[in-house]
Amino acid sequence: MKIGILALQGAFAEHEKMLDALGAEVFQIRQRSDLDRGFDGFVIPGGESTVQGKLLRELGMFDDLKDVIRNGLPVFGTCAGLLLLAKNIENDDREHLGLMNITAVRNAYGRQLGSFAVAAEFADIGEIPMTFIRAPYIKKAGRDVRILARVGGRIVAARQDNMLVTAFHPELTQSTAVHEYFLNMVRSVQSKALRDV
Ligand code: GLN
Repeated sequence: MKIGILALQGAFAEHEKMLDALGAEVFQIRQRSDLDRGFDGFVIPGGESTVQGKLLRELGMFDDLKDVIRNGLPVFGTCAGLLLLAKNIENDDREHLGLMNITAVRNAYGRQLGSFAVAAEFADIGEIPMTFIRAPYIKKAGRDVRILARVGGRIVAARQDNMLVTAFHPELTQSTAVHEYFLNMVRSVQSKALRDV
């Protein structure tokens, strides 16, 4: 299974390590031509959504990436990746890829609680460790969005069709469960594609 990781900025190396340990073939996406290599899934890492959004446009990758995700490529966005996928960001007038039917709040936990770790339930998985770094949360989840985890009443993980997002960083914990969940999503899209042949 081939997974591309957006490697323009942020915490991509940690995702790479985890997916590699789970047996995926991982490669970094750094320029427009990298998008032409065939892959089965895509990861948008944490970092700075503003910087990543700007680089995506400057490198001419923005529209093509948006198209492949809209066409069903499984994608996993963590933290800044969640903000890049969100249709709305309440406290930011930028819209990035704008594909997922959620309203996110950016840097939502204030200065004091900028970074913290908790353990909480994740749907179909159970309790897992969650590390938050200047994280967003999801204030509104629209139709077709399944809520997968909440912390303190706030939505911190969700899925809509081929898009999985977490406000926290599973790649910075010891648990590989969320990455396994994502790889299962990729597998189910692959087997559906086979059935459609
Ligand atoms: N605060 C960052 C942003 O707004 C996200 C933080 C992260 O990805 N760890 O993009």
